[in-house]
Amino acid sequence: MEFLRPATWDEALAAKAEYPTALPISGGTDVMVEMNFDVHRPSAILDLNRIGDLATWSIDGDVVRLGAAVPYSRIIDELSEPLPGLALAAHTVGSPQIRNRGSVGGNLGAASPAGDSHPALLAAGRDVFVEAASVRGTRLIPIDDFYTGVKRNSLEADELIRAVHIPVADGPQQFSKIGTRNAMVIAVCAFGFALHPKSRTVGTGIGSAAPTPRRAVEAEEYLQGVLAERGLWESGDLLGSEVVQRFGELVRAAASPIDDVRGTADYRKHALAVMARRTLTWTWNDYSKQIRSAA
Ligand SMILES: Cc1cc2nc3c(=O)[nH]c(=O)nc-3n(C[C@H](O)[C@H](O)[C@H](O)COP(=O)(O)OP(=O)(O)OC[C@H]3O[C@@H](n4cnc5c(N)ncnc54)[C@H](O)[C@@H]3O)c2cc1C
Repeated sequence: MEFLRPATWDEALAAKAEYPTALPISGGTDVMVEMNFDVHRPSAILDLNRIGDLATWSIDGDVVRLGAAVPYSRIIDELSEPLPGLALAAHTVGSPQIRNRGSVGGNLGAASPAGDSHPALLAAGRDVFVEAASVRGTRLIPIDDFYTGVKRNSLEADELIRAVHIPVADGPQQFSKIGTRNAMVIAVCAFGFALHPKSRTVGTGIGSAAPTPRRAVEAEEYLQGVLAERGLWESGDLLGSEVVQRFGELVRAAASPIDDVRGTADYRKHALAVMARRTLTWTWNDYSKQIRSAA
C-alpha cells in the first residue's frame, strides 16, 4: 500500500489526481476503523495531516469557512456562537478522544446517513456549501446536492474537501439525537433545527432515518407559511400546540427509515416527531425572549 504524505494543498491535489483511488485520511476515526475491520484495503492512503490550512477556520462577513480538518472539540470551544447547531451536534459525537481527532470534512467524506454534522449543516440553510477542489479547480457544492446515496457523496474521484461554508447563525438553533445509550453511540436518529429570522426561513435536517441525510421540506414550508401569515416573526407570540404538532407530523412524514439493530423504522419516525416538536419549542422560546427583550 502506498502512503502519500503531501506537505501542501497543491501537492495533495496533485497526488489525488495521480492516484484517484487513494483514500484520504484526516482524523482517521472512520478510516482506521474500516481498515482494521478490513472493510477497505485501498491501494494508497493520502494523509492530509501535514496541511495546516485544513485545520483553520475564519469568518468573512456572515459566513464561517470551516477547514475540513478542524476537529469537533475546537468547533465546540471556538465556534458555538456563530455555529450553535453544529457545535451542539459536535458535543454528541463519540468521546473526547474522537472529538479531538474527528472532523466535519471526515464526516462529509464518509457521508454516513448517521453522521451527526449533517442534520446541523442542512438546518443551517440552503447557503451551506462544501468547498471541493482538484487540480482542475475549485467548486462550491450546495449541501442539498452533496449527499447522493448511502455513504456516497458527489465528490469526483480526483477531488478533496477543503472547507465548508456555513452562514453565521442569525437565530436560535438546536440539535437532538437519540442513541441506545448516553455517549459513544451512533444515532438511532437525529434532528437539527434552525430559525433564520433575517430571511424569514427555517431549516431542518434529519439524520439516520433515510438513505441520506435530508431536510423535511414540507415541514419547513408549513412553518414558514404559519410564521409569515400570523406575523409571528415580528411578534414572537406563542406558536400554539396545533402548529407544533403539525410540524412534528410533517417531519415524521419526511423520513423513510429502516428497521435495523439500532431501532425500528416505527420507533425512528415516532422519535423524530418528538425531537421536531421539542427543538421547535426550545428555539421558538429563545426567539420569543429575544423579541420581548428587544421591545
Ligand atoms: C468510537 C467512535 C465513535 C464515533 N462516534 C460518532 C458519532 O457519535 N457521530 C458521528 O457522526 N460519527 C462518529 N464516529 C465516526 C467518525 O468519528 C466521524 O465520521 C468523523 O467525523 C470522521 O472524521 P475524521 O477526520 O476522523 O475522518 P477520517 O476517518 O479521516 O475520514 C473519513 C472519510 O472521509 C474521507 N475524507 C477525510 N478527509 C477528507 C477530505 N479532506 N476530502 C475528501 N475526503 C476526505 C476519508 O477518505 C474517509 O472516507 C465515531 C467513530 C468512532 C471510531
